[in-house]
Amino acid sequence: MSSALIYAFICYFYCFLKFMYLELAKKYQAPLYVYDGDIIIKKYNEFRNAFKIKNLKIHYAMKALSNIHILKLFNHLGSGLDCVSIEEILLGLKAGFKPESIIYTPNGVSFEEYKKAINLNVKITIDNISILEKIGQEYPNLPIFIRLNPHLMAGGNSKISVGHIDSKFGISIHQMPIIKRIIKNYTINVEGIHIHTGSDIIESEVFERVARLILHIADEFENINSIDFGSGFKVKYKENDLETDIKQVGKTFSKLINDYCKKRNKELTVRFEPGKFLVSEAGKFLAKVNVIKQTTACTFVAVNSGFNHLIRPMFYNAYHKIENLSNPKGDKKMYSVVGYICESDTFAEDRLINDVREGDILAFNNAGAYCFSMTSNYNSRLKPAEILWLNGKDYLIRKADVFDDLIKNQTDIEIEF
Ligand SMILES: *Cc1c(COP(=O)(O)O)cnc(C)c1O
Repeated sequence: MSSALIYAFICYFYCFLKFMYLELAKKYQAPLYVYDGDIIIKKYNEFRNAFKIKNLKIHYAMKALSNIHILKLFNHLGSGLDCVSIEEILLGLKAGFKPESIIYTPNGVSFEEYKKAINLNVKITIDNISILEKIGQEYPNLPIFIRLNPHLMAGGNSKISVGHIDSKFGISIHQMPIIKRIIKNYTINVEGIHIHTGSDIIESEVFERVARLILHIADEFENINSIDFGSGFKVKYKENDLETDIKQVGKTFSKLINDYCKKRNKELTVRFEPGKFLVSEAGKFLAKVNVIKQTTACTFVAVNSGFNHLIRPMFYNAYHKIENLSNPKGDKKMYSVVGYICESDTFAEDRLINDVREGDILAFNNAGAYCFSMTSNYNSRLKPAEILWLNGKDYLIRKADVFDDLIKNQTDIEIEF
């Protein structure tokens, strides 16, 4: 095929995709989340195939996107789950995951919640000394994971860097003597160690440093059969963004791990907990343009949404690429895209977007991870619907809220004022 033909084909394909999203916005009404299941499958396989490790277990971090049909898709692919609350565990079990493929890695939860998780037979990760002692007292034989904080500063910004010195996550590696004393006193069964250094790590070199450090620490635990390396894989939000080179990370890790297993004469199970990497790119958030406001300083585009539906730009200063699906050939102009919430809820400032008109549908890219799962009903607004697109078919996997959803838990008692 000539390159011109290939180019025409690719253009046609992208036109088709844009058209498809527009059709979905028409059929289900924006605001709307659409997830491309084929991309999720592709990313899962890409991750899995990057590692040449015999006992590799991927535990999808479901807090990124927790719709039960997405969970079922991951279960179908052979993934396990990483859960951070008892409710996530219950959702995972409901989606069909076996308890042994679920790891529970919470932070700051009560011992009562741990007990509930233990009774559900999922794998438990302990991230503080107080709970470790309680486990020792009440469940001395329970196999557990210990989450360690390696104090390596890594990650995209301070809100998502969880490995550094002030981080509330994990037990400091400087407290190893205490950890070892408690384990010995109560004869706690440490099945594995866990580390999660934070989101958005670009350099495979940081991963390597973390890996070397944790393998060094692993020497101190005689009976472990597993190491959990958490996540932190970065994805592209815009064209020239750097992303984690998963092939390179996979190569480095596989060699380190396989050498280590040989050294200890053990087949360790190696676990990862990717969230963002698996689902971020699969999602698009579609919103409709309510008003265009021209000021002396800039042109505002206000959409029928806000941080109640997509909070990452305001919360993390995150960049989400915005496309005008309704006018892909229009001249590019500079816009500030804002929401309809009575707060400053700016999605993007000074963005070049194809000429925007009232009624147009805008698509926010990378809306798979930490988007719907962070929605709220602020301003008494309704949450949007979610659609899964798979094998050329669209499935409504969550209905949009209706007014009743806002008041269904508010009691109708009569109070005398
Ligand atoms: C949030 C979280 C993850 C997933 O992080 P991503 O950056 O989305 O891949 C993995 N493990 C734990 C313990 C987490 O809290």
